[in-house]
Amino acid sequence: MTMNSAAKDHVESITKALLIPTAAAGVYARTALFEQVVEGLAAFIGRRRDAETEILRFPPVMSRQQLQSSGYLQSFPHLLGCVSSLDGDESDIRALVKGSDWLARLATTDMVLNPAACYPVYPLAAARGQIPAKGLLFDVAAYCFRHEATHEIDRLQAFQMREYLCLGSASQALGFRDRWLSRADEFAMQLGLPHRIEPASDPFFGRAGRLASISQLEQSLKFELLVSLHSDRQPTACMSFNYHLDHFGKAWNLRTETGQIAHTACVAFGMERLALALFATHGIELTSWPTPVRTNLSL
Ligand code: ATP
Ligand code: ZN
Repeated sequence: MTMNSAAKDHVESITKALLIPTAAAGVYARTALFEQVVEGLAAFIGRRRDAETEILRFPPVMSRQQLQSSGYLQSFPHLLGCVSSLDGDESDIRALVKGSDWLARLATTDMVLNPAACYPVYPLAAARGQIPAKGLLFDVAAYCFRHEATHEIDRLQAFQMREYLCLGSASQALGFRDRWLSRADEFAMQLGLPHRIEPASDPFFGRAGRLASISQLEQSLKFELLVSLHSDRQPTACMSFNYHLDHFGKAWNLRTETGQIAHTACVAFGMERLALALFATHGIELTSWPTPVRTNLSL
């Protein structure tokens, strides 16, 4: 047996105790054991929040128009999930659901499923006017959806993302991203996670997307904290550290106090991936986890 298939078997066996498959690929019920660690992680992350950070929690849906205005359809149309429903009066709808073509009669609503936790923040901040001189910090979380092409246990269609965000000048946004990058090793060490941090790019769509990925790498805009779950060659990105330049600033005409277009940055935590990394590393018996890790996660 190769290392990778042994690792794969290990991940499969621990997963049984953590996640129960449903009829939808990449969608799981979560056991109490799994949830306990996710909650511990959420509190652990919360204790690392900077002062004067505004906390917001979002539902799993957001405005379609706002996601479109953020440029999502240019970059990631393949990952998007939209909310549809049946329109009409009682007899219309009754007739529709009796027929076999009710799916074809679904009408789009003005909502989409959140593909990341931070998209609703930018328009919300823009509506408040100019960003104060010290910048704005947010702590956000949402259930996210991505129409992923494959469904490994660490590539879910529905997952929870937590993010810290900074909106401000270029140096504030980049400084925020780099501060989090410099804390990343310690963060992973406190969880007892063997890891590495590497430059990364987003899964941009199509041929133009490959150019966007290359440019993102060249400009060192994105880094990921990687943990080997089922393969050393394809480690799992459990966190990402992103500098968006003025992308969202331009999209929402976000201005700093001096009238410049704002720059933004975020650090994102994949809650399920972090939890899976913990279980894969320390096993499913919480009592045998290293004491410092249990203390840090209040387990
Ligand atoms: P990947 O490179 O694995 O596709 P990504 O670069 O698209 O991930 P981000 O957009 O940076 O990921 O999302 C932030 C974090 O959310 C990721 O670092 C990861 O931990 C988590 N995440 C992203 N996609 C998924 C998914 N399909 N299932 C579970 N967690 C995910
Ligand atoms: Zn983000």
